[in-house]
Amino acid sequence: MCLAAVSGWAAPLDLGHNRLNEPTIAERLKSVARKVPSFCPNTSLVLFIVQRIPHLVVIGGGHSHAIALDHWARQQDASRPPTRITLISNTVYAPYSGILPGHIAGFYPWNDCYIDTLALAQGAGVNFLLDRAVSLDLKRRIVELDSERSIAYDFLSIDTGCTPGRSGVRGGKYAIPAKPVPELLTAWYDILEQVRQSPTQPIALTIVGGGAGGVELALTMSARLTKLLERAELLTINLIQRGDRLLPGHNAMVRRILESILRDRGVQIYRGETAIEIEPTRNVRCASGLEVPGDHVIWVTNAQPASWLSYCGLETDDRGFVVVDETLRSVSHPEVFASGDVAVLRDRQLPRAGVYAVRQGKPLFDNWRATLAGESSFTRYDPPDKVLALIGTGDGRAVASWGNWGIGAYSWLWWIKDAIDRRFMAKFDRFSE
Ligand SMILES: Cc1cc2nc3c(=O)[nH]c(=O)nc-3n(C[C@H](O)[C@H](O)[C@H](O)COP(=O)(O)OP(=O)(O)OC[C@H]3O[C@@H](n4cnc5c(N)ncnc54)[C@H](O)[C@@H]3O)c2cc1C
Repeated sequence: MCLAAVSGWAAPLDLGHNRLNEPTIAERLKSVARKVPSFCPNTSLVLFIVQRIPHLVVIGGGHSHAIALDHWARQQDASRPPTRITLISNTVYAPYSGILPGHIAGFYPWNDCYIDTLALAQGAGVNFLLDRAVSLDLKRRIVELDSERSIAYDFLSIDTGCTPGRSGVRGGKYAIPAKPVPELLTAWYDILEQVRQSPTQPIALTIVGGGAGGVELALTMSARLTKLLERAELLTINLIQRGDRLLPGHNAMVRRILESILRDRGVQIYRGETAIEIEPTRNVRCASGLEVPGDHVIWVTNAQPASWLSYCGLETDDRGFVVVDETLRSVSHPEVFASGDVAVLRDRQLPRAGVYAVRQGKPLFDNWRATLAGESSFTRYDPPDKVLALIGTGDGRAVASWGNWGIGAYSWLWWIKDAIDRRFMAKFDRFSE
């Protein structure tokens, strides 16, 4: 499906996409150039210039790409290397992870949660294709799209995020995945509607995955549903965690604070349990034989990248993440950049969090620029040793986690989180005005 091809400065040539057997941009321009001799004495010069205009294809409107395109938009036309950029995104509205839990808790309207990638592309002067990349031909440098079209590139940048893995789980289709976000929100709005219609009926949600995402969802969903139900006791929230500890990526202080809030909210925590089956009734069966009954199952387990990334021949780790060097270029194909959740640094493991994806945006932009300008010096992405995480508790408070230190939950931490997230989103307001 390709509904939109909105163009920047390359638009009049309509070269944003090619069918496999169609001539590539260079071939088309060469054929134009062959007609030039009658009025241009130096055909080879024209061919040379034409062939030097590189095409950067950017897949996914994730956080790093949003920041890199924002930088691209800020750059004066004159200082841009001559290039064409095409953004392929499977959605116009790319959700911002920082605000998503606040939206589920009812603090932000949907309009505040997403980046309008179409407006961003227009503002940055790049082509926009509403489509989904499904495969890569690394040899021929072609991206295959869901619409059965294909697009040729000279350089590629991938920021397509991850989805929670349900492979190997019987009845996985009965679970609501936390990503893609539109799928989560569609199901969440249905649950809200069900509770609004029947506020006296009991309801049970089972959240599978006790990392930061799962814990934050348990807290925000419980806060929102409790307000809608006639009595708090009508709500049951189950949280199933494979390991012995919740929030394994956070320190002991933060774990203690959040576990005590979960207990106060009546969340049933099942540790050391691996969900292996979801029955059509939405009962979750675990490897130990435990059965957890519920009305809806929300799946927030370890994220996995799309499988086409490893099938195509890019070097990936054993879980399928694209391995990149410190300049965010693939270690096997340096013409391919990867960033955000889909990428893994060659020599360092980072947690999968939006904050890292955001911070990769500027070095990614620098390195697009360097590549497109044919330069050989690149900017390193040096991840900080620790980052501040502010985890919302769904009631207007947040818990701060930084290295081995943690405090909360306090409303002033929520104000700080709110201010940081709003400031981030305000960067993109100018594109939609
Ligand atoms: C419930 C939940 C809460 C979270 N809360 C936080 C939080 O508070 N703070 C935080 O830092 N992190 C949070 N995270 C983690 C955060 O969501 C991710 O780390 C972050 O979104 C990663 O950003 P990204 O740029 O890698 O990709 P994404 O934000 O996932 O963006 C990828 C984009 O690419 C598009 N796309 C995907 N595949 C294709 C394709 N084949 N073709 C074209 N387009 C494609 C997608 O539609 C999407 O727009 C949370 C995660 C979950 C599940």
